[in-house]
Amino acid sequence: MNTFNKQKDYYQSGQTKPLKHRIEALTYLKSTIKSHEKDILAALYNDLHKSEFEAYMTEIGILYSEIDYTIKHLQKWVTPKKVKTALTHIGTKGHIHHDPYGVTLIIAPWNYPFQLAMAPLIGAIAGGNTAIIKPSELTPSTSAIIEKMIAQAFIPEFIAVKQGGIDVSQQLLETPFDYIFFTGSVNVGKIVMEKASKHLTPHTLELGGKSPAIVHDDASLKLAAKRIAWGKFINAGQTCVAPDYVYVHKDVEDAFLTYLTEAIEALYSDDALTHPDYTHIVSDKHFDRLSEFLNDGTRFYGGETDKTTRTITPTILTNVTWDMPVMKEEIFGPILPVLTYDQLDFIIHAITKQPKPLALYLFTETDYTREKIIRDIPFGGGCINDTIYHLATPYLPFGGVGQSGTGQYHGKYSFDTFTHQKSILKQSTMFDIKLRYPNQKSGLKWV
Ligand code: NAD
Repeated sequence: MNTFNKQKDYYQSGQTKPLKHRIEALTYLKSTIKSHEKDILAALYNDLHKSEFEAYMTEIGILYSEIDYTIKHLQKWVTPKKVKTALTHIGTKGHIHHDPYGVTLIIAPWNYPFQLAMAPLIGAIAGGNTAIIKPSELTPSTSAIIEKMIAQAFIPEFIAVKQGGIDVSQQLLETPFDYIFFTGSVNVGKIVMEKASKHLTPHTLELGGKSPAIVHDDASLKLAAKRIAWGKFINAGQTCVAPDYVYVHKDVEDAFLTYLTEAIEALYSDDALTHPDYTHIVSDKHFDRLSEFLNDGTRFYGGETDKTTRTITPTILTNVTWDMPVMKEEIFGPILPVLTYDQLDFIIHAITKQPKPLALYLFTETDYTREKIIRDIPFGGGCINDTIYHLATPYLPFGGVGQSGTGQYHGKYSFDTFTHQKSILKQSTMFDIKLRYPNQKSGLKWV
């Protein structure tokens, strides 16, 4: 029997549903990650040259917080929610039950290869499901440790890992899973949605796109530069919510660019090529793709490359226009085009002409600017006066809109994503309301 069928049987046995089982599994997941920390960090270094500090913060620590938060609130979340009774429904009681979906599929990308395979798993377990995880083939060391760790911790009937590339992914997508949680590119997201439609499988798509940062003329410039440099060059720009490009008000462009170069050098010195804490590019293919972008606009800062280690230094491009290749696709690397604007309406028009971004970051000190941008530009989520931080709190749903994704997760939103809200109306048998039946006078009939 294949893993999917085994999981189906295991799920039908009801063993994943009790609260106790879910909490024990989450607790065990946390202790298993803890006992494999060293191997996970080594794998991330091997695959992406991620520093221990960065890897711990973005791939491991964030999971511990998510598990702790979920365990703390799970009892409340699983308890059926009583709803109000409408006047037309006197005598009834309504409840919402959070039902697990069943056997779920989690497909993960390579950029945060550990965290993005485990974070959805927390939701799947909390929801009372089983799960098959398909990690990325581009980060083989991390995928291997995920498989080893999960096999040690859980029986495959409950949680299993299937390693492999596109062929394995496509084979899994032919299977009638009860839920698919996909994180990856827009193009593959479309394939997943198409495959899901065959079985009408509910799904979440966590995708990408070009996320803008806007630096208005009233921004706290030095801090804006520091936070944009951090959010852009962490993981060498290979972050779905990294600021893809910056729109800076023309009056503050020079000062902003000066602060930005200072911020980059404070993070990675003036020699990121050999810096021990600077992440490398995942593959030769991505290195070559990114290297092409270095020919666009004017190279204001950086642009050094080393093909042997697949490193590209933090780079700022100016004099960039929307018809250049660097502005035609998600950059997903350490290259930051900086464009200028004069009027807010100009950038609102320019950004809304593009597919809806996953994130948007606005740097301003005025309520008017903040309210206008939030109201007039659709995007998944974002920050005012910061970058990336919005995804690290369990209190905010994280996800895209339109081409940047469908659905959301983190905290309670992960639990909601991995459960179906089953509505139950309990009717009274003490009396019957005549009105609904044809040819009967209005009023109550006591039974
Ligand atoms: P990808 O879409 O190439 O791959 C993601 C997963 O899909 C991998 O496991 C891969 O094996 C599988 N896959 C690839 N091609 C497939 C196909 N034709 N059919 C079926 N499965 C296939 O994405 P990636 O390069 O690993 O990741 C980068 C992308 O992911 C970026 O666009 C980034 O913005 C996005 N991303 C989004 C989030 C988010 O939370 N929204 C997080 C990280 C990355």
